[in-house]
Amino acid sequence: MTTQRQRSTTGRCGRCGTTVGRIAMRRHVASCPVSVEAHSDSKTHRQAGAPAEALLVEACAPRSPYWLLAAVAVNAPLHALDGLLRSVWLECCGHLSEFDIDGVRYLSAVSGPPEAGARSMRAKVGAVLRPERKFSHVYDFGTSTYLALQVIDVLPWRAPAGSAILLANNRGPQWSCSSCGKPAVSIALDCDEDIFYCAECEPGEDAVLPVVNSPRIGQCGYTGPGAPD
Ligand SMILES: [Zn+2]
Ligand SMILES: [Zn+2]
Ligand SMILES: [Zn+2]
Repeated sequence: MTTQRQRSTTGRCGRCGTTVGRIAMRRHVASCPVSVEAHSDSKTHRQAGAPAEALLVEACAPRSPYWLLAAVAVNAPLHALDGLLRSVWLECCGHLSEFDIDGVRYLSAVSGPPEAGARSMRAKVGAVLRPERKFSHVYDFGTSTYLALQVIDVLPWRAPAGSAILLANNRGPQWSCSSCGKPAVSIALDCDEDIFYCAECEPGEDAVLPVVNSPRIGQCGYTGPGAPD
């Protein structure tokens, strides 16, 4: 976790560029004119598969400035949401991941007989999630990244069948070099305490990872991409 305190950052709507705080963004993405237009019935009906009712899902990394909002079709498997979290924030070397929803574990890959009580991410979002439900996600059971998620509401527009779409995410926080205070470009690799470096103070490429807009910053081999900020 971070030792430099960061105020919760503003975020940017990926559709129209509106920049507001996290709570205001929940309201904005539901009514964003670009999303409403893109997912109006006449357009989405031309796509393969009938558009589906969609849930607005928020993901946050606890005690950090990272958050995102996604539209997830109720007929999407949990794999679709897992895939979105991996592509925006997490994927480094294909580690296992799981959701915990109401005490039930949904695993990204099940080899051999499933563990007692564990299910696969083939479960449909609409069957396991509903508005106001809080749940969690962990990526990598070694160097783990933990996320807290919540279904905010049902969206007033429909999403492409089976899809999970990134709507908005936090802007990249600015970190300072732990030695001299200049803007940081890298972070010490897999260190319990976050140690940031500017270009001059950096000890060497092998010991650091780049500063990226992701809660997986500094962990395992994660170098991004992260969503644009
Ligand atoms: Zn917008
Ligand atoms: Zn890794
Ligand atoms: Zn420095």
